[in-house]
Amino acid sequence: MNSELRKDFPILSRKIYDKYPLVYLDNAATTQKPRQVVEAMTEEYYNVNANVHRGVHFLSQQATDLHEASRETVRRFLNARSTREIVFTRGTTESINLVASCFGQAMMKEGDEVILTEMEHHSNIVSWQLLQARQGIRIRVIPITDDGELRLDEYERLFNDRTRIVSVTQVSNVLGTVNPVKEIVRIAHEHGVPVLVDGAQSTPHFRVDVQDMDCDFFAFSGHKIYGPTGIGVLYGKEEWLDRIPPYMGGGEMIKTVSFDHTTFNDLPYKFEAGTPDYIASTGLARAIDYVDSIGMDAIEAHEKDLTRYAMERLSEIPDMHIYGPRTLEHRDAVISFQVGQIHHLDMGTLLDRLGIAVRTGHHCAEPLMRRLGIEGTCRASFALYNTREEVDALVAAIQRVQQMF
Ligand code: PMP
Repeated sequence: MNSELRKDFPILSRKIYDKYPLVYLDNAATTQKPRQVVEAMTEEYYNVNANVHRGVHFLSQQATDLHEASRETVRRFLNARSTREIVFTRGTTESINLVASCFGQAMMKEGDEVILTEMEHHSNIVSWQLLQARQGIRIRVIPITDDGELRLDEYERLFNDRTRIVSVTQVSNVLGTVNPVKEIVRIAHEHGVPVLVDGAQSTPHFRVDVQDMDCDFFAFSGHKIYGPTGIGVLYGKEEWLDRIPPYMGGGEMIKTVSFDHTTFNDLPYKFEAGTPDYIASTGLARAIDYVDSIGMDAIEAHEKDLTRYAMERLSEIPDMHIYGPRTLEHRDAVISFQVGQIHHLDMGTLLDRLGIAVRTGHHCAEPLMRRLGIEGTCRASFALYNTREEVDALVAAIQRVQQMF
């Protein structure tokens, strides 16, 4: 990857503790933002800002055009059939909650079942538990192997005549496992069951095609793909979005309102109550443009190389335990590890003192931690701007921490 690209990210030239060059390896939590994204948002605030969809005046129309052009950029990015299928939300969490709540309300009764996996993020567990508390649904869970891969044989056995939906992550934010979502969708559809795919950790790293995957819903967050916080997307097949009720009530999502009867707006606005974050949608679109300008395939190749290199280098460290799939084929740019008896929090804190940002803890996946029999891990996760030198710095820093213990 061209080292010039790093200059697009001003934060990467910061010094930590006024001493160490920042080595930012917490990209699975959030990515840094290129100038192109921040400047486009600033420019819109300075020169265009007006509320969208409501005004007849020039600025409002320009802001609306920008917002709707961003929706088209997202449609292209996911290869959705229509912009009617692209709902702007606050992020993956809101997208999943929307499906659990609205699909749950319309399509699930007491005793009906959702299938999740043992490696889900809390957002894809607790959303369904809220529905469970409200409507008495049941949660079934696909187990994983010790290497952190889904047991597809067990998955097939979970279906019965009460199964209503499957909700799975495409990539584990802890193990880096890339799940075979196309196969998961195919099997679910054989049982007449729709699938929601959590794309929070896949969209930043490789090409996603919702038509090829044939998933029924797909969620992702802007901030994990070099875009701003506070914006994300729910893709839904029109047939499903038409069948489920709105999530929130308010402006934008209605056609007519009276105290007796309200009619809802067309897709996707039916799900977009209130003033949308139209500045953030511009930021997300510029982030997608940025990724496109480099090329998703080039990003994937670079990150795969980095992950391979990191797996090799980390494996040289005595007492190193790496979680998740051994084969790179099934693994994305996320590496969770534990070194000997050194507590992950101590490791993370000391790495930070050496200028290296990694994540520690349960990574919002407590059930997975329980399955692995641990409390937490250290997690290094890569983005397009990371380098082999940064992997070397991580390895050297871990070795230094080891010497301290
Ligand atoms: N799912 C997965 C797999 C994630 O990694 C995350 C973020 N850590 C989320 C969902 C939630 O994303 P957000 O906080 O952006 O809504």
